[in-house]
Amino acid sequence: MIPPAFEYLRPSTIPEAIGFLQQYGDDAKILSGGQSLIPMMKFRLARPAYLIDINRIAGLSYIREEGGYLKIGALTREAELEHSPLIQSRFPIIQDTTRVVADPQVRNLATLAGNLAHGDPANDHPATMLSLGAKIAATGPKGERVIPIEEFFITLFTTALKPDEIVTEIRIPLPLPRSGGGYFKLERKVGDFATAAVAAQLTLDASGVCQQAGIGLTNVGPTPLKARTAEEFLRGKKLDDANIRQAAQLASEEAQPSADLRGPVEYKRGLVKELAVRALSRAAERASK
Ligand SMILES: Cc1cc2nc3c(=O)[nH]c(=O)nc-3n(C[C@H](O)[C@H](O)[C@H](O)COP(=O)(O)OP(=O)(O)OC[C@H]3O[C@@H](n4cnc5c(N)ncnc54)[C@H](O)[C@@H]3O)c2cc1C
Repeated sequence: MIPPAFEYLRPSTIPEAIGFLQQYGDDAKILSGGQSLIPMMKFRLARPAYLIDINRIAGLSYIREEGGYLKIGALTREAELEHSPLIQSRFPIIQDTTRVVADPQVRNLATLAGNLAHGDPANDHPATMLSLGAKIAATGPKGERVIPIEEFFITLFTTALKPDEIVTEIRIPLPLPRSGGGYFKLERKVGDFATAAVAAQLTLDASGVCQQAGIGLTNVGPTPLKARTAEEFLRGKKLDDANIRQAAQLASEEAQPSADLRGPVEYKRGLVKELAVRALSRAAERASK
């Protein structure tokens, strides 16, 4: 379907974009890659009267290590994450994730910031960012505010962003030695949203005991979920088969799936358990290298 009519605005600076957001409020939407927003407009599920295209704002596309963080600029495309040597060597979990987002055409345009700001529990990056303890830098009229990812997802398609704020950067703490992660997703066909997916990030000590665990769940609740009980269970324990299976069981109990065309509740819980075993095993293997 053709989207409803809208006014197209193309700011060249962040303050200009924020000015438009202040001026038009709820009638305006930021346009990044357009890979969620444009389909929503075509289905007439979103009807912004003003589209604020931030793609011409310079300096928002980068991937760099700085001040203890991996910093990803708001306009960095999925394809850039997928092929970044820095991501490949330091954050293979992000590469696992980006590779299963949609298809190469979508990934050439879609941004990590848009993937998070959309607030869709079916999107892949939120679970990974939850497992990594990311922070969202949001810029508004009063300057920058940093939102921990645990506080970012409020409910379906609703985030902690204020109407006049723009995500400008994603910050991920650099991994400690002996850290590793993995993301496992089941989709009905290549390019589909997840039936369920699990992200796991672990830090082990020299004897293989878990110091830190982050576990995020995709598409099994009204928001992306952090499996806190499973994370807590793993801390101080060896990553052996029994503990991995017990943590996966706890993660499946923390999932809040609903039945839909992708399957019934019990199937999705079982899936979370199996995917959690795989993600934790991959994370432990990478952390041990
Ligand atoms: C065919 C298809 C298949 C897909 N499959 C998957 C999949 O398997 N997994 C997956 O995770 N996603 C999938 N998606 C969704 C898509 O990849 C993401 O939601 C997309 O990455 C959103 O990023 P974007 O830059 O395109 O955002 P846009 O579409 O431009 O924006 C999305 C929303 O976020 C807001 N927004 C965007 N950027 C900012 C910003 N910097 N600050 C504040 N608000 C902002 C917009 O106003 C809008 O509300 C699919 C999409 C398509 C079309």
